[in-house]
Amino acid sequence: MSQAKKIEVTDVILRDAHQSLIATRMRTEDMLPICDKLDQVGYWSLEVWGGATFDACVRFLKEDPWERLRQLRKALPNTRLQMLLRGQNLLGYRHYADDVVEAFVQKAAENGIDVFRVFDALNDLRNIETAMKAVKKAGKHAQGTICYTTSPVHTPALFVQQAKDMKAMGADSIAIKDMAGLLTPYATYELVKAIKAEVDLPLVVHSHSTSGLAPLCQLKAIEAGADRIDTAISSFASGTSHPATESQVAALQGTDYDTGLDLELLNEIADYFREVRKKYHQFESEFTREDVSVQINQVPGGMMSNLANQLKEQNALDRIRDVFAEIPRVREDLGYPPLVTPTSQIVGTQAVYNVLADQRYKTITNEVKRYLQGGYGRPPAEVNAELQKKAIGNESVHEGRPADRLSPELNKLREDIGRIAKCEEDVLTYAMFPDLGREFLQQRADGTLKPEELLPAEQGGKGRMSAGVATEFRIDVHGESYEVAVTGVGDSGAGKRKLYLSLDGMPEEVVFESLNEYVAEGGSGRKRASEPGHVTTAMPGNVVDVLVKEGDAVTAGQAVLVTEAMKMETEVHANVAGTVQAVHVAKGDRVTPGEILIEIA
Ligand code: MN
Repeated sequence: MSQAKKIEVTDVILRDAHQSLIATRMRTEDMLPICDKLDQVGYWSLEVWGGATFDACVRFLKEDPWERLRQLRKALPNTRLQMLLRGQNLLGYRHYADDVVEAFVQKAAENGIDVFRVFDALNDLRNIETAMKAVKKAGKHAQGTICYTTSPVHTPALFVQQAKDMKAMGADSIAIKDMAGLLTPYATYELVKAIKAEVDLPLVVHSHSTSGLAPLCQLKAIEAGADRIDTAISSFASGTSHPATESQVAALQGTDYDTGLDLELLNEIADYFREVRKKYHQFESEFTREDVSVQINQVPGGMMSNLANQLKEQNALDRIRDVFAEIPRVREDLGYPPLVTPTSQIVGTQAVYNVLADQRYKTITNEVKRYLQGGYGRPPAEVNAELQKKAIGNESVHEGRPADRLSPELNKLREDIGRIAKCEEDVLTYAMFPDLGREFLQQRADGTLKPEELLPAEQGGKGRMSAGVATEFRIDVHGESYEVAVTGVGDSGAGKRKLYLSLDGMPEEVVFESLNEYVAEGGSGRKRASEPGHVTTAMPGNVVDVLVKEGDAVTAGQAVLVTEAMKMETEVHANVAGTVQAVHVAKGDRVTPGEILIEIA
């Protein structure tokens, strides 16, 4: 029996597609020229905003994310604009008090968002309740989200119950969010069928093509009764991104499920973005191609390229398969959380530590501790009790909604940021990213905002530069000083390493015998750690806090520094007891492994 039903399409080109393929670096200037055409397509919605786009705007592009939203709103008058919201985490990496959640949703709605896809990484619905209510209050579309994952506890029945609970909360539609590309076609069919049988709401399937199965999954979802699919225009589709819009439209054309979208218009849009993509070649990664191993290791698309970049900085890219193998083990220890921000970072970073130290849980990140204390909500299954004990000792585990322990904080945020915030949106930017946000607002006030540099288009023979944080240092040659920024490590041969140096912004290819010493000594002026009393870091990152000063007595194992890597904070501990002889770092400093950060004797 056939049922005529037009399938609706959400295109994620302006958010998830470039997040999944080029580290979320697409600039507003490359979006606006095509908006007129995008607006004519007749998409159900365009996904344009989310945590990573907000972060990348402030951190790398030096664009005001709110201004981007207003510009897109203006340029897309006929299309619903959609955002991805991390429930009580909003677009940041911690739980916010309810008053901040309410203010954020209200402002996002005022600035142009029509559809809020709200999720919690643990599928703990207590963490999306406030946001869902706020969306309804603003008169906008609240989409309740199931973060799809597989584990002994994640059954279709569990997800059906979640969909029912979200409907009871006032959800206008339900999304199945398969961020890692874990769904298989027949599992999709079963899940969609089960939800549609019990919950009378539009259902949308968001799936990544990481394992190459997403187009098949969407077809089976449609046959099972799904109403809408998320796709990406073809020039930013496939691999860790999404099924190509044109392919899905073509697949359904002339059937009962016809989307009614115009393939020729979509083709023109694809041509446009094909050119745009070239501009961002430095952010392409080989780990965004299709890879079925995601069916084993569950690493979401966005996370793969982040892990690759992190390991590359550490000269340990060859360990990436070990990290992928460690991730499911850490995940099991933590009670099978779905891997999506922030749990993907929590699990991923801990896995990196476990692999690079060649010892599991030698270092436990602050976020893993917080997670094991119930700080993110209720894990889907029992956590590893031994690990929990090791991480939090005899401290109690919080069973309640994490935000219930937070007092209203909006007024304090307003006071803290003061007059460099010109409007409530600025206060919220600061709330999302305390350090970065303040720096952004200050630079904006000073007129010194400067986006990261893009490298010129690839020319014949030149290798691709990796995305990474530039290491800057000074070289003196024949009495003249040069400021040099190393922005990427290329192919390494036996005993040699190809680097791209940027002198006055012009990349030059050079070959060094050894990089480590040069960077450490030339970059920061810090010497190489060689004694037990030399405190160093296991990961490249930034210093968030220095916990000791010269002359302080410390015990072995005491936390002396807090660093941030991959958006996760970690304590760095003293290896020996003694007195602090020297502190070579300050808050905000960039640090790399092997450098002496603090000396204890
Ligand atoms: Mn996604």
